[in-house]
Amino acid sequence: MTLLEFFQENTGFFIACIFILGLLVGSFLNVVIYRLPIMLERSWRAQAREILALEAVEETPKRFNLVLPDSCCPNCQRKIKAWENIPLVSWLCLKGRCAGCKQPISMRYPIVELLTGCFSAFIAYQFGVTWLMAAMLFLTWGLLAMSLIDIDHQILPDNLTLPLVWLGLIVNSFGLITDLSTAVYGAIFGYLSLWSVYWAFKLLTGKEGMGYGDFKLLALIGAWGGWQVLPLTILLSSLVGAVLGIIILRLQNKGVMSNPLPFGPYLAIAGWIALIWGSNIQKFYFSISGIN
Ligand SMILES: [Zn+2]
Repeated sequence: MTLLEFFQENTGFFIACIFILGLLVGSFLNVVIYRLPIMLERSWRAQAREILALEAVEETPKRFNLVLPDSCCPNCQRKIKAWENIPLVSWLCLKGRCAGCKQPISMRYPIVELLTGCFSAFIAYQFGVTWLMAAMLFLTWGLLAMSLIDIDHQILPDNLTLPLVWLGLIVNSFGLITDLSTAVYGAIFGYLSLWSVYWAFKLLTGKEGMGYGDFKLLALIGAWGGWQVLPLTILLSSLVGAVLGIIILRLQNKGVMSNPLPFGPYLAIAGWIALIWGSNIQKFYFSISGIN
């Protein structure tokens, strides 16, 4: 019996394995969410100095990427040991405090790990032992990372959006979700629809309502689900935006919004829902509206 056959016969075990894989990936996503924006900013600063013909400055630490330097406590700089890096477990064992200086470690790290684990387990449950499941895992992880980066920094890095556009097209070159031509037009219309809204809004009001990253994110969703998934995604994103917006406003207990909430996470959530349940939602809508 191959491992694949074993997984196909023991779905519960398979889902549990993917949950644990999700926890580990969640731990890596924490690193990506924290470090990628800093890496981008450093490279933009270096480019800007080059364009302005300013002398290059040495940044500390000299090498800063997703692997180096080792993670350390932001308060006491104590290096985080391997056993303190076990997703969820270490945080619970340490009771949410640094082993060195006892400063609280943000709840956010275990929450991101747990969320990634749960979403991954759900994908495994929904799609079973298939290639589509593997592809959907990458999509889910990517959307999660870019949503949190967008919330923190109001940017959707090209390093995350663009590879997932290509991956969506590759997935559909095998016809896993839709056919390739539908996927290509999905990417094109996804990008152009928000691009036109952006320019119309800018010409009318002189303000910028969203960023180019949002166009690429909708292009990504179109590349995965085909152009048919776009109207539902836009509709759902405004629904998600309205619901979450009210909750966030209540939580912040503010009368006015000082900072516009980034659009990226709403699009990501809406696109994810539309990709997984799109056809069910449409059937439900048609059944209640009496169209067959
Ligand atoms: Zn510490």
